[in-house]
Amino acid sequence: MRDTLVLNASFEPLSTVTLNRAVVLVLQDKAVVEQAHPELRMRGAAVDIPAPRVIRLCQYVRVPFRRRAPWSRRGVLVRDRNRCAYCGRRATTVDHVVPRSHGGQDTWLNTVASCAEDNHRKANRTPEQAGMPLLRQPFEPTPADAMLLALGREDLDALPEWLAQPAA
Ligand SMILES: [Zn+2]
Repeated sequence: MRDTLVLNASFEPLSTVTLNRAVVLVLQDKAVVEQAHPELRMRGAAVDIPAPRVIRLCQYVRVPFRRRAPWSRRGVLVRDRNRCAYCGRRATTVDHVVPRSHGGQDTWLNTVASCAEDNHRKANRTPEQAGMPLLRQPFEPTPADAMLLALGREDLDALPEWLAQPAA
């Protein structure tokens, strides 16, 4: 798979993403194509654009000091791909593993995506107290993930089928 270089709005290189991801960012008007593959195009029913080799973000993304991803509720949902950490169904809320009333903080390692039912059921208890084990452990996103989290959204899964393979 070819990777596309991503530049910040300030032209500073940030990261690389897959070609498909790059096209999605361009189609969503989050990035513009700075340089394209000379003979490779992405074709679909309504779209025909050169396959991007370098894209530049339309909005400046602040790269956090020490290159750590800043915590956010939206970021937790994106990290966990909108899956509940307790039952695996679609999550719309963020649960504190150690509740705030017990001193739990807004950190990557203390928060997980949760469906509203499980969040309500767990209430002000730890997973052990509630008898609700985590299906997976929360983790801190890597610096490379930080940019994608800043761009947000669950559109990683919403790729049009025709983009799965670039046209020759
Ligand atoms: Zn759940």
